[in-house]
Amino acid sequence: MPREKPGNAVPESSNLDDCHPHHRILFDPIKIGPVVAPNRFYQVPHASGMTEANPRVRAAFRGTKAEGGWGVVSTGAVSIHPSSDDSPLPFARLWNDADIASHALTTEAVHKHGSLAAVELWHGGAVVMNRTSRLPPLSPSGVPWAATHIGFMGQQRPKPMDGSDIEAVLNWQRAATRRALDAGFDIIYVYAGMGYLGYEFLLPEYNWRTDGYGGSLENRTRFVREMLEVTRDEAGGRAAVALRISLEELRAKPSDHYASEAHGVVSLLSDVPDLWDVKMDSSPNDCGASRFRPEGAHEPIIDFVRTVTDRPVVGVGRFTSPDTMVSQIKRGVLDLIGGARASIADPFLPEKIRRGDTDAIRECIGCNMCIASWHDGVPVRCTQNATAGEEWRRNWHPEQFQRVKKPESVLVVGGGPAGLEAALVAARQGYEVTLAEQSSDWGGRVLQESQLPGLREWRRVRDYRVWALSQLGNVAMYTDSPMGVDEISSLEARHIAVATGAQWTTHLYSPLEIPSEPLMGPQVFTPEDVFAGRVAGDRILVFDYDNYYLGGVIAEHLGRQGAQVVYATPAGHASAWTFMTNELPYVYKALGEQGVEILTTTNLDHFNGQLAGLSNLFNQQPLEREIDAVVVVGLRQPNLDLYQALQTAQENTDSPLIDTPITLVGDALAPGAIAHAVHSGHGFARSLIDGDSAYFRDEPINLLEPQPVFVEG
Ligand code: ADP
Ligand code: SF4
Repeated sequence: MPREKPGNAVPESSNLDDCHPHHRILFDPIKIGPVVAPNRFYQVPHASGMTEANPRVRAAFRGTKAEGGWGVVSTGAVSIHPSSDDSPLPFARLWNDADIASHALTTEAVHKHGSLAAVELWHGGAVVMNRTSRLPPLSPSGVPWAATHIGFMGQQRPKPMDGSDIEAVLNWQRAATRRALDAGFDIIYVYAGMGYLGYEFLLPEYNWRTDGYGGSLENRTRFVREMLEVTRDEAGGRAAVALRISLEELRAKPSDHYASEAHGVVSLLSDVPDLWDVKMDSSPNDCGASRFRPEGAHEPIIDFVRTVTDRPVVGVGRFTSPDTMVSQIKRGVLDLIGGARASIADPFLPEKIRRGDTDAIRECIGCNMCIASWHDGVPVRCTQNATAGEEWRRNWHPEQFQRVKKPESVLVVGGGPAGLEAALVAARQGYEVTLAEQSSDWGGRVLQESQLPGLREWRRVRDYRVWALSQLGNVAMYTDSPMGVDEISSLEARHIAVATGAQWTTHLYSPLEIPSEPLMGPQVFTPEDVFAGRVAGDRILVFDYDNYYLGGVIAEHLGRQGAQVVYATPAGHASAWTFMTNELPYVYKALGEQGVEILTTTNLDHFNGQLAGLSNLFNQQPLEREIDAVVVVGLRQPNLDLYQALQTAQENTDSPLIDTPITLVGDALAPGAIAHAVHSGHGFARSLIDGDSAYFRDEPINLLEPQPVFVEG
C-alpha cells in the first residue's frame, strides 16, 4: 500500500501571515508525479562528503535543511553498483540491502519536518576509476575520461558496453530503486549529467555506437529513456521519478529538427520523468565560484526547458535573493527553486523568507570551500555556516543556542571573521559581549580581500555578522579601539578571546617544501601592502607558494592597474589549490586577460631591486626577469604579541587577569582560510557552555552480516 506522503499535508509552518506578499508564491505546494512538495524550495542533490561511514552526521545535515523549510531535500550521488566506485572520493551507495538502514535515517530526519526526501541514484560510467572494486569502468564506446588533474587521473580505461552490460545497468537501477523505496525516499533520480554514464550516451563525443543506442538523437536518448522506464516501473507510483540532466554541451549542438540537441532531448523525453532537474555540464560551470560566475548563471542554458515540457522544472543558480527566486518563477524559467550552496550556507533560508525576516538570511559567498571538502574527501565545511556538518557530531544547530544560566562577560579582541563569529555566538547564548577592533571598520582580512577583483560577495561574511550583532541588546561594539593589556585588564571580562589575526611575511621557499629565509629590501611587499596601495612599479613579480586564491587575485589586480605582472609559483599550476574550489580554469582566463606571464614549478632565489633570479624547482635551470617590485604570497604568521603580553601579565599574582581564561581563536591560533577562522570563533563561543569536548564519532550501521555484492545486481 502506498505510504502516505508527508507533502500532502500542509505543515503548520506554512503560515504565511508574516511573509512578504510578493514572496508567497515561493510557498505554493507543487505536485511532482505522485507526491506533493510542500513548497518550491528544493535542495537539489549535492555532494556532502558523507557516506555510509557517517550516517548520523548525514541524516542530521539533511534533516536540518528540512527543519529550515526546504520542501524537498536530496541526497548526493548514491552509487547503484560497485562498477560506479568513485573512491577515494566520498560517495554514498545502495549496493545491497545492508545499505538501506543508513539511508532510512536520512529519510526519517527529512520526513520529520514534513519535507520530501529525494535520492540521486547514480552510475559514474567512464568518470569513475573503480579503484576499490577493481571492476572495469563502463562506457558507451570505451571513451575514457583523460583527466588533467592528478587527483582524478587513473590508469584504468573503460570497457565499451555490450547489450548485456546495458541490461545489467538497467537491472542495477531497478534494484537500487527498490532499496530506495525501502529506505523511504519519495523522489528517485536517474542521472544523466556531468560526464556520468547517462550523459555519455547522450553526447556523440562519448557515444560512437552504431547500434540502437548510438547515432541519431533518438538512439542516443534511448538508454536514459530506459533508465527512467525501469525506475518508474519499479517505483510503481510510490515515488516520483526525476531526471537530472546537463544541457550545456547539448544546447551548443545544432539539430535538424529542434532548436538544439538540448531542445531535442527534452522534447523526446518531455513527459517521461515526473520532474526535470536541469543544470550545466562541468563542475566549474555548474557550481561556479562567485569570483567568476554571478547568481543565476545557468539561466541562458536552461531557460527553454519549461517551454518544452509541462512537468515541473527545478534548477539552480546560487539563489539567495527571494526576489530573484520569484522572478525565476514568474518569468517561467523554473517551477522549483533549487539550492545546494544556498542551503548549506543557510539551511533556514526558506523559513526566514516565510516569516518575512529576509535580512537574517546568511547568504552563500560563492567561495566553494564546500566543494573543496568533497575533493578533500571529508564531510562538508562552509565558510558562512560553521555548523554545517557539525549538527550531529558537535550538536551545533544553525539557529538555536543554549542559553547561559548566569550571564557572564566575554571580551573579544579583533573584529575579523573569527572575532565577529565568536562575539555573535557568545551573544546569542546570552553572554554580555564586548567586541573591540583596532581599525575603523569591521571585517579584518575579509574587508581587505573583498576589494580585490571578483571577491565582492565575500564581504557577506562581515556584513551578515555585523548586522546580526546590531540586532542584539547584549553586545557593545567598538571600532578604533586598539587593545593592550591595560585596556583589557580594566574591562575585567570573565572570558577573553584573542582574535588578532595573522600577518603575511616575505619568507621565500625551500626545495624542502617549507618556507626559508625572508626576502629583504625596499621593493619587497606582502598582501597587506597591496591592500594599502603601497606597491609601486611597472614590472611586478608575484611569488606565490600559498597556492590558494590570493596570489592569483593579486596578480590579476596589479595587472588591471596597468602593471606588467609575472606570476611565479613552485607549484604545478597558478593558484593550484583553486582546482579544489572549481576556480582553476577561470584563474587562467583572468590572468591571461591581464597579460600575466605564468611561471610554474619555479622558485624565487633572489631579488636586488631590479632583477629577480628564479630557477626551476626540479632541475634548478636558472631564469631572470627585470622586475621593479616583488609581492610574496607565502607564509602567514599569527599575531601573538597581545596574547603573549596577556600571558606575561597573568604571571603577576596581583593581575586582575590572573583567573581569566584567555583563548586564541581564528588566524591568531592557526592561520587558515576564512572558513577555518569562522569555525574557530564559533567553537570558542560554544565551548563557553559545552566545555572543550571533542566531537562524537559516527559509526556505520551494520544490521546485517557482511554480504557479497553480486555483479549481476
Ligand atoms: P581572523 O581571520 O582570525 O578573524 P583577521 O586578520 O581577519 O583574523 O582579523 C583580525 C582583526 O583583529 C583585524 O581586524 C585586526 O585589526 C584586529 N586586531 C589585531 N590586533 C588587535 C588589537 N590589539 N586590538 C584590537 N583589534 C586588533
Ligand atoms: Fe557558499 Fe562558500 Fe558555504 Fe559553499 S562554503 S555554501 S560556497 S559560503
